[in-house]
Amino acid sequence: MQATSFQVTPRHNWTLAEVNALFALPFNDLLFQAQSVHRAHFNANEVQVSTLLSIKTGACAEDCKYCPQSGHYNTGLERERLLEVEKVLRQAAAAKDKGASRFCMGAAWSNPKQRDMPYLIEMVRGVKAMGLETCMTLGKLEPEQAHSLAAAGLDYYNHNLDTSPEFYGEIITTRSYQDRLDTLSHVRDAGMKVCCGGIVGMGESANDRSALLMQIANLPLHPESVPINMLVKVEGTPLENVADLDGFEFIRTIAVARIMLPKSHVRLSAGRSRMNEQMQALCFFAGANSIFYGDKLLTTENPAADADMQLFAKLGIVPEKRQDVSDEAHALALADAIKEQQNPPLYHAAG
Ligand code: SF4
Repeated sequence: MQATSFQVTPRHNWTLAEVNALFALPFNDLLFQAQSVHRAHFNANEVQVSTLLSIKTGACAEDCKYCPQSGHYNTGLERERLLEVEKVLRQAAAAKDKGASRFCMGAAWSNPKQRDMPYLIEMVRGVKAMGLETCMTLGKLEPEQAHSLAAAGLDYYNHNLDTSPEFYGEIITTRSYQDRLDTLSHVRDAGMKVCCGGIVGMGESANDRSALLMQIANLPLHPESVPINMLVKVEGTPLENVADLDGFEFIRTIAVARIMLPKSHVRLSAGRSRMNEQMQALCFFAGANSIFYGDKLLTTENPAADADMQLFAKLGIVPEKRQDVSDEAHALALADAIKEQQNPPLYHAAG
């Protein structure tokens, strides 16, 4: 049999034709290539586990057509002001107890106001002090805001490109693609890690999916995390009736992302709760190695934590361990919980 070698060095000069050619591979060839690249950089049986808390919900000034939190659409979403710092820290402690190693905090804002910054900084410091990695998504950032968050200990900033530059205007009109690229570069300049991905299934073309991945892969540095979201159609948003994206196309998108972003964590993100176990397993095989764990993914429902544990157990997947001892202890605690699900005790000790 002919030996096959795969490109595993990160590249930043992808052309649309090359990306389209990856999408056009026979499904088995594409998945084999993605899995080979994945194994060159990661333990194929580990998945990183993060927890996400909405720290400010709804009434956002932006008009992202997929988003139930936009103030432009009436989705019946209950609005919440910025959560108190103590409440956020309590939730972070609970997430840590459940085994999360990273705690993400998301606010439905165009951008954080200066008056919010002291609270955000306190949140970051408090969560960091628990030994958790910290991540925030707050919208557009000015350079000095990025620097103060980084100085407080913010490890990651999430800011998605959402879709291709060509399709972007169909989805968002209140913020430009360049604004997004600028925020990403402020985050990098401040020394933080970047979480940046997009959403598929919004009615975009196959070319748009390729162009989105090309934009992400051709950034000066690859984002450390790349969430690939499947649109969750929410009643009341302009995209509520858009046609479903074929599941295989979604899996192909994960596989192509894995090949183009060989060292990034590719995150199976929103939309996971609509996927059956077999589809999620194929996504893991295609190179997805990060999920949100817990019962809330911002305001979109997420598979219950127990269902995640059961799926991990069926697939022999364990949560990714980190160097930090305290986090490792939590990853192990979660692994233990999964093992217990696999081998349920035959009796309960008398209380
Ligand atoms: S995606 Fe973010 S910026 Fe866009 S409307 Fe929703 S909360 Fe606002």
